[in-house]
Amino acid sequence: MLASMAKLKAGRMMRLVTDGCLQYWGGAGYLWESPTARAFRDSRLASIGGGADEVMLQIISKAMGTLPRSNHG
Ligand SMILES: Cc1cc2nc3c(=O)[nH]c(=O)nc-3n(C[C@H](O)[C@H](O)[C@H](O)COP(=O)(O)OP(=O)(O)OC[C@H]3O[C@@H](n4cnc5c(N)ncnc54)[C@H](O)[C@@H]3O)c2cc1C
Repeated sequence: MLASMAKLKAGRMMRLVTDGCLQYWGGAGYLWESPTARAFRDSRLASIGGGADEVMLQIISKAMGTLPRSNHG
């Protein structure tokens, strides 16, 4: 559960930080050649690869016993 929490938080944080960097650098940061654009794209993988954020939320809520039950059996 703690590992899923850490992965979820790290993914969200990376998105926030690289988005802020891109905004700071403006058009220069947007260019494909810039390290900012590279970091912006690369950081998105953290919330997708190895289980998406939604999967982490599912694992955490299961471990906490708060996962809503399906009404369809
Ligand atoms: C650059 C890169 C490198 C990779 N390297 C490896 C590797 O070395 N080894 C390896 O095994 N795999 C690797 N992968 C695959 C990676 O692990 C999968 O992309 C990842 O698990 C997500 O699966 P998916 O792409 O099929 O997306 P999907 O499972 O189709 O998910 C797409 C979206 O659907 C939603 N979603 C998915 N499941 C749920 C759910 N249960 N509840 C709610 N919403 C949900 C989420 O919003 C998610 O972002 C790599 C992928 C990339 C892009």
